[in-house]
Amino acid sequence: MTGQSWRCSRRRLIALAAVMLSPNPTSASDKMTKPQAAYQDGPNGIYSCGLCTLFVEPNGCKVVEGEISKGGWCKAFAPVD
Ligand code: SF4
Repeated sequence: MTGQSWRCSRRRLIALAAVMLSPNPTSASDKMTKPQAAYQDGPNGIYSCGLCTLFVEPNGCKVVEGEISKGGWCKAFAPVD
């Protein structure tokens, strides 16, 4: 396994654990706030919500509350394969 794929797998595991450990991950009260997630409206380099497995069309997120920009990013980013 390369260093890059290990980091992607680790991030995905952390994000999925956050979802799985939540008793009701679809409830807004169980989600992280934008400041907790270090959410930003712009991308982090080439990474953005539109490329994250936790993004919910058209403007939601499974783990961060509120309206999410498809071009945004946060520290829970979990890239799609
Ligand atoms: S990167 Fe975007 S879609 Fe992914 S967890 Fe963070 S806010 Fe949600």
